[in-house]
Amino acid sequence: MTQPSYADYDVPQDLKFKTHDIIRMGGFNCSARLPAVQFADVLQAPNKITKATVDLSFCVANKEIIVNGTISGEREVECARCLKHVTQPFCETFCETYSTKLEIIDIMYVIRQTLALTEDIRFLCAPACKGLCAQCGHDLNEGPCGCKEENLSPFAVLKGKFK
Ligand SMILES: [Zn+2]
Ligand SMILES: [Zn+2]
Repeated sequence: MTQPSYADYDVPQDLKFKTHDIIRMGGFNCSARLPAVQFADVLQAPNKITKATVDLSFCVANKEIIVNGTISGEREVECARCLKHVTQPFCETFCETYSTKLEIIDIMYVIRQTLALTEDIRFLCAPACKGLCAQCGHDLNEGPCGCKEENLSPFAVLKGKFK
């Protein structure tokens, strides 16, 4: 069964939903655009979230409320290999279960937690980023730097061993 969508449901700005509202409506879907300033401290500088939208689905089942959420938007991150700053889209999902005995369901807390977990991943400007030359710091995505290749390649070491 699909949930009714309450487009005009007044989504609380701090995303603290009243449990009795959710139960009264028998669950619902809603979405909200969130001010990026609310996530200013979630990622470590210079990485930051610049745009965020959340889609939520509340289901009431027995004594539980199940919340499925998708948070998507844009973030500005520093590439772990070449240190370039890039803007990239992101999309994270979460699923949480709450007791109907709770007065408030704090979705902002879950979103912040979900986004903070993405920090463990090393951000890259592109999966094939070549990074910086370990010797001169040149951005190898822009072409070779002229440093001696054999010093950089791990195979050069092996070659020397088997001579
Ligand atoms: Zn890069
Ligand atoms: Zn170099």
